[in-house]
Formats: sequence, C-alpha cells, structure tokens
Amino acid sequence: MEVFDHEPGPRVVFGAGALAQVPAEVRRLGPRRVLLIAGRHEKPYADTLAAGLSPAGRIEEVAVHVPAETAAAGIEVAREIEADLLVCVGGGSATGLAKAIARQTGVAILAVPTTYAGSELTPVWGLTEGGRKTTGGDPRVRPRVVVYDPELTLSLPVEVSAASGLNAVAHAVEALYAPDAAPQTKDAGEEGIRILAAALPKVVARPGDLAARTDALRGAWRCGAALAGATMGVHHTICHVLGGAYDMPHAETHAVVLPHAVACNEAFVPAAMARLGGALGSNDPAKALWDLAARIDAPTSLAQLGFRHENVDAAAELVVAAGKANPRPVERDWVAELLLEAWDGARPDDS
Ligand code: NAD
Repeated sequence: MEVFDHEPGPRVVFGAGALAQVPAEVRRLGPRRVLLIAGRHEKPYADTLAAGLSPAGRIEEVAVHVPAETAAAGIEVAREIEADLLVCVGGGSATGLAKAIARQTGVAILAVPTTYAGSELTPVWGLTEGGRKTTGGDPRVRPRVVVYDPELTLSLPVEVSAASGLNAVAHAVEALYAPDAAPQTKDAGEEGIRILAAALPKVVARPGDLAARTDALRGAWRCGAALAGATMGVHHTICHVLGGAYDMPHAETHAVVLPHAVACNEAFVPAAMARLGGALGSNDPAKALWDLAARIDAPTSLAQLGFRHENVDAAAELVVAAGKANPRPVERDWVAELLLEAWDGARPDDS
C-alpha cells in the first residue's frame, strides 16, 4: 500500500510578460493593503509593480537565509500597515522574508520569482539566528499564487543563473530518491532536470536568449514542484549546515556538493539513478552533474567558495546531528569524506 499526502500547489501564471498579470491576480485575491517586498537587484520590477498596485508599504532590503532581525523588522512593517497581502519579487531571499512575515501574521503571499531557487512552491520557511539556520514547514507560508515571468530572469547574472539552476536540479535529484515522493513528484523532477540540463548551457552562452531563459524557468518550476512534494536527503542537509553555520553562499554550495552527494548515494538507489542518468543523457550521473557544472562555469569546489579544510570534521558532525533520513544511512566518516572531496573539487571518482 502506498499513501501520498501532499497539499496541492499554488495557482501558477507562467509566460513572458506575466508581470503585467500581477495586478489582476492581486484583485482576484481581493486584498486592500499590499506589502511589496523586493531586494535591490529586483527593484526595477518592483517599481513597475508599485505603479500598478499602489502598495500600502514596501520593503527594499532582503538578505540571504533570512536573519532574525530582518524578519522582525518585516513583521513590524506588515503589522503597522495592516498588510493583507505580501507580494514578493526576487529570489529565495525575497520569498524567504515574505514567508517569515506570513508565518507570524498569517498574511497570504503572491510570489514573483526571479531565480531558479524554487522556494515559491514550498511550505518551508527558514530563519537564521546566532549562526544557526532553522527551517520548518507551515502551510501558511506557501504562496497562494506564483507568477513566473522569464523576462525578469534576463537580468540574472550568468554566474547566479548557473548556480541557481544547479540548486533547482539538486531539489529534483533528491526528490527522485525521496521515500515520500508521489509518482507525479518524481516525474516533475525528472522533467525539470532534463529541461535545465539542456537550457543552462544556452543561458550561460546567451544570457539574453528569451527562449533559453523561458526553458530554464520552466525547468526550475518543475524542480520546485519536486522540492515541494518530497523530503530532501543528505545533500540538502549538508548545504543547510554549510549555509547556516559557515555562511556559505546558498546556490553555489548546492552546485558544488551535488555531484559528490550523488556519488555517495548512487549504490543505494539504482532505480532513481537510472532515471537521473536518463535525464542527464549519461550512465554516470555523478560525473555528468560535475561536467554540467564545469561546462556552465559554476563553482566545483568548496575551497573556491571559502570553506576551510579544518572545518570539515565539525561540519560532518553537524550533518550527522541533524538526524535526517537519506538512502545511505548518514555516518560521520563518509560525510567527512564527501565534504573533503567537495572541498577539493575533483570530478567524482577521478581524485
Ligand atoms: P537570492 O534570492 O539571494 O538571489 C541571489 C542574488 O541574485 C541576489 O543578489 C539577488 O538580488 C540577485 N537577483 C535575483 N534575481 C535577480 C534578477 N532577476 N536580476 C538580477 N539580480 C537578481 O538567492 P536564491 O538562491 O534565489 O535564494 C537563496 C535563499 O532562498 C536561501 O536563503 C535559501 O535557503 C532559500 N531557499 C528556500 C527554499 C524553501 O523552500 N524554503 C528553497 C530554495 C531556497
């Protein structure tokens, strides 16, 4: 007997020019007092929205991993202006701040993602305090509407696009072997990986190619759906620990760790690896993921990102202490070995 129990996803509007649909989507939800949230780089899109929405308030600074003080300030603004809808424009950092506010106030979210992170589809929130990142699930933080406009991703720098795309791929990879992922969740993940593996090299070669950008955002949407419907394994635990305790950059860390996490898990989940290999066009998915990262100039070593060799053992302890499930039972020795390989950055099995 198999039982899968996942909430249906949000309403999705997808397509070039979809930003213009946001005011109509806001009216559909019927709020009166919008709080508009966007980071510095997403400001031009937020300005366009502000002209059509006349928000009651705006937040123009967001920060990665949602520092507790940023969340507290946002909650205060939302309460002051009696916001009844949060509209966030940006990557996972803008969405994350909206989620932190929604978690405390119950105010609904309309998300306009501009990276490939996938947070817009999940009920997962994150908060960082005192060097520790905490995450949890709460249906109130899952956006009600998501508006995907590939035109907004044309300005996403090539190096952010590459790393963010691999962050999306990582969600789908772990969904392929998640014990609780429904068949349609795995299908979404496989489709997302296939689309992104083809689209990312084109995006990196021609960042202004709207067709490639459209494919990449569609792939990210599928990968985000996979993330929303599955419990993530050791790859996400490692990236979470490195981000929270060592301040490592989110998407780039995912890009580096993924081939090594796949290499460690592959003997334990052959069926998932066969699907992953099919989506990547390779019978060695760990190497294929490393090759994809190298081809799109994404980072391939943790050393390159500033992670220090002497922190490997302590980080491995934190990963084990997190107590999360994974196809290969999580043990300190192989996690430390994985971290060393990711630190070094050699192609899996070539070291
Ligand atoms: P980000 O939101 O920090 O964006 C990365 C950089 O790109 C920022 O400087 C941003 O301003 C800039 N940027 C974004 N869109 C742009 C655009 N269109 N043009 C130009 N610049 C642009 O990074 P991210 O990787 O999207 O999100 C990372 C955060 O999201 C982390 O805190 C992570 O934990 C969280 N996250 C949460 C979930 C979840 O389900 N809760 C899922 C994925 C990521």
